[in-house]
Amino acid sequence: MQTMFSFGQSAALRTIQDRLRGVFGPIRDAKRLDPLSQFVRSFLGSKTYDRRSWDAFLRLTQTYKSWEAVADAPVQEVEETLRHVTFAEAKAADLVLALQKIRARAGTLNLDFLAGLAVPTALVWLEQIHGVGRKIAAATLNFSSLRKRAFVVDTHVLRVMQRFGFVKPNADNQAVYDAVMSACESFDADDLYELHWYLKGLGQKTCMPYRAHCETCALSDLCLKRVQEDAVAVTRSRRVGV
Ligand code: SF4
Repeated sequence: MQTMFSFGQSAALRTIQDRLRGVFGPIRDAKRLDPLSQFVRSFLGSKTYDRRSWDAFLRLTQTYKSWEAVADAPVQEVEETLRHVTFAEAKAADLVLALQKIRARAGTLNLDFLAGLAVPTALVWLEQIHGVGRKIAAATLNFSSLRKRAFVVDTHVLRVMQRFGFVKPNADNQAVYDAVMSACESFDADDLYELHWYLKGLGQKTCMPYRAHCETCALSDLCLKRVQEDAVAVTRSRRVGV
């Protein structure tokens, strides 16, 4: 696909990673959940603040002895456990159904078998489950103990990559995923993990939805939005003879 950054997408990714490592420090490892637990964790995280979805995940694990028990629980009971996440009613029903579907399709309620599948195949397998898009599927593969090469795109990552010019301004999550994956041949799964958290952190702290603090951004000299705004400012100042 056609993307906008000009000096080489692969070099751009490495530069972004290096610059943001200077800001946030190395994020080379983290405690990993097993693939099914990460799937549930990511499922709950959709359109919900991380803290709330993490709390809901912990409540689920404290309330039920196993994911099998969640799959067999009454939806209303699961909904009560998830009450603070966004769309708790729909999420509870979808989660119970998703777990039942995994059990039926895999023959057991376990996603460890994904380790033996190529990433594109594993993504398709997961995305056939109702409520599962590329973000949940990629997080299951990359964030879990599977450590597969899949890049997770959330709203913060999407916004930064659009403004930076890595993709077009109207690109969607899938387009960012495709652009990054086609440009990251030298990145291993841990690099992709780190890149996700760097871009998310930048989106939360600096390149925010309603205000981009470009003056303090480590990427400002490379960023298309910043370059365009500087060009507009220069044109304006010439017009008024400053
Ligand atoms: S320079 Fe500004 S617009 Fe570009 S990534 Fe940084 S904060 Fe966002």
